[in-house]
Amino acid sequence: MYYNEIAGVKVSALGMGNMRLPTFDENEKNIDREKAQEIIDYAYSHGINYYDTAYRYHSGQSEFFIGEALSKYPRDTWYLATKFPGHMIVKKENGVIGFTSGLTGWPDSTVPAVFEEQLNKCKVDYFDFYLLHNVNEKSLPMYLDEDLGIVRYLQSEKEAGRIRHLGFSAHGSAELIDSFLTRFEGVFEFVQIQLNYLDWKLQDAKSKYEVIVKHGLKVVVMEGVRGGRLAKLPEEQMAKLSAVRPGDSAARWALRFLQSLPGVAVVLSGMTALEQIVENVETFSEPCPVTEEEKQLLSEVADSMLSWVPCTACRYCTEGCPKQLEIPKIIAAYNGVKNGDMMASYSLEGCDPAMDPTRCIGCGACTGICPQNIAIPDIMKEFAQMLKK
Ligand code: SF4
Ligand code: SF4
Repeated sequence: MYYNEIAGVKVSALGMGNMRLPTFDENEKNIDREKAQEIIDYAYSHGINYYDTAYRYHSGQSEFFIGEALSKYPRDTWYLATKFPGHMIVKKENGVIGFTSGLTGWPDSTVPAVFEEQLNKCKVDYFDFYLLHNVNEKSLPMYLDEDLGIVRYLQSEKEAGRIRHLGFSAHGSAELIDSFLTRFEGVFEFVQIQLNYLDWKLQDAKSKYEVIVKHGLKVVVMEGVRGGRLAKLPEEQMAKLSAVRPGDSAARWALRFLQSLPGVAVVLSGMTALEQIVENVETFSEPCPVTEEEKQLLSEVADSMLSWVPCTACRYCTEGCPKQLEIPKIIAAYNGVKNGDMMASYSLEGCDPAMDPTRCIGCGACTGICPQNIAIPDIMKEFAQMLKK
């Protein structure tokens, strides 16, 4: 494992994401703790010291899990990062907050009470890294709300030593990140963004990266292989890469792209299976950045995928769907069919109602939740029509 630095802290270049832990079934709450612990143990014993979670991950179970999983190791040998769910709250009276989107139905709380709850869940008395979760155009009013005073409160926790380093994750535009950093100059020490060679173009991650570096901060990467999409490329594209580096997996190409960006400190990977972490640890044994020619090749591969619906399979949308549709899997099939992979439609066969886009009633319960701003009901409608033909 090689290491980088955030605000003077030596962090492993590969970080362990805890949003896609192995589960017993499709219910994200049901973490398979034995398998997940095996992954964490492998991560720890192979030098990974950065562990990322959030209030919402696995419907709140991720924080419980990772706190327990890491508690067997000395507290000063690992760094824990979690996030405040300001993108999923509504403001009530007297500092009370309610929850919405993926947290609908959770009991009302307050900003300090959420923070306290997180410390308890994670079994720690301080967080090494603490982030505002998903600063974007929709969540910005909550994060800037003077009465709630979220940033002010977190700064006070930093002064009290219960937060070591403050940052934020962002799905907003480069302009929004720029103005947020300018407004809070000196407050935040790192920014977590979705970054990979496809989003470099598709979601203008290039501009976001450049803005963060311009402010002198380090980048923590999420979705480096785009929820696994860049780990399985269409045959034709994979053949182009294999011609240059036979034997290298598509995931390794995606991760090497990130190793070539000097502002990137940690690349998070939400590893679900032991094989994934074994391969990723090997990729991060030492830096192996892509060459200029290889970067150009990846740019061409990305060009072939620009028409894809940019789903990262985060599953934020599935919980509230009254038809229990497997939305990310349906979108994966839609992307495949749209891009000439006729085998992709096979995943819809077998009469599994959860995989049937024609069952979407267009209720809109999934609208507005998606961090990628995907118009899910429109995709369902279009896919249903495509399948009728
Ligand atoms: S619009 Fe369709 S996919 Fe979205 S929640 Fe409603 S039924 Fe589910
Ligand atoms: S459609 Fe959006 S919310 Fe749903 S899994 Fe994909 S990226 Fe996540």
